[in-house]
Amino acid sequence: MIIGSGPAGYTAAIYASRANLAPVLIEGPQLGGQLTTTTEVENFPGYPDGVEPFTMMDDLRRQAERFGTQFVSGIVTKVEFAAPVTGNPSPVTGNPSPVTHKVWVEDTDLYEADAVIIATGASAKYLGIESERTYRGRGVSACATCDGFFYRKKTVAVVGGGDTACEEANYLAGLCEKVYMIVRKPYLRASEIMQQRVLNNPKIEVLFEHNTLQLTGEGKVQGADLIYRKGEPDEAVKHIEIDGFFLAIGHHPNTELFKDYIARDAEGYIITHDNSTQCYQSSMTNNQSPILPGVFAAGDCADPHYRQAIVAAGSGAKAAIEADKYIKSL
Ligand code: NDP
Repeated sequence: MIIGSGPAGYTAAIYASRANLAPVLIEGPQLGGQLTTTTEVENFPGYPDGVEPFTMMDDLRRQAERFGTQFVSGIVTKVEFAAPVTGNPSPVTGNPSPVTHKVWVEDTDLYEADAVIIATGASAKYLGIESERTYRGRGVSACATCDGFFYRKKTVAVVGGGDTACEEANYLAGLCEKVYMIVRKPYLRASEIMQQRVLNNPKIEVLFEHNTLQLTGEGKVQGADLIYRKGEPDEAVKHIEIDGFFLAIGHHPNTELFKDYIARDAEGYIITHDNSTQCYQSSMTNNQSPILPGVFAAGDCADPHYRQAIVAAGSGAKAAIEADKYIKSL
């Protein structure tokens, strides 16, 4: 069983199906994963001219399908991962007896599997200010590629100073009259090339050391109140008129569903054993907990550092190889 349809999930499916594991992949709420919220993928090896994310994800899906992966469209709503059975090793291999892990799709459809690969990715973060909720879908968005089209020839703001924010600001600058970038630090965190693209784009104005206090507008976003140098003596409020407010301040892993069964770090990223994709049981403290046989994690749900499609794909391959080894050892 593979949960998730991003680069990690599909790559795991390609490897698992080629190993004759008969994988079933649950596609989840966002077919193709987070990558499909970007405009163009330029850094995935094998696409020298770049590729549209939907094309790339469809390529991966078809590759997995070719070797027999079954796809289920739906959302996993519950899991029950079985704890290892102790004291009852297989008479053949000496390994622990096989256990069955259970996965429910949309509360009703139960799937049982010897091994589960979690590849549920991560989701966009919001600032947590009240007006952001008030205007969600009415000027507030966390996906420029999805919603940028609605702001053609308008003025928008992008919050964040990382690669995502720079990428989104550049994309929006291609559509909009003007783009503000609201950056809380005095510098951008993004890679050099992305920074240069932003700083050289005449349509983008970067507001360093600004934080958003609130959004304003009658029924939809029409402006934002920002504070300059929060807590400093020269702190000042600045109002900008905008039609759209795009969040690009990072992501949190989609792992809540598994918290009773597997170990996660303080931010919710799944902790895996050493250099593998093998999960620990949830009772883990200081890496002391035993592993949870047959449960593996791949991609952004277990990766707070790299968060790249190619890295996710690589860990998907690792997870499938480890699942194959585990199943064959039973
Ligand atoms: P990052 O974590 O790299 O950056 C998040 C940005 O949002 C930072 O500037 C951070 O500020 C800011 N931020 C966070 N919380 C708040 C807040 N509450 N208020 C205001 N600002 C806030 O996330 P990204 O999504 O940009 O990137 C994630 C990973 O994906 C990175 O490794 C990145 O390199 C990669 N990536 C690569 C791309 C590519 O290569 N084409 C494209 C997109 C992403 P601060 O700096 O102060 O912490």
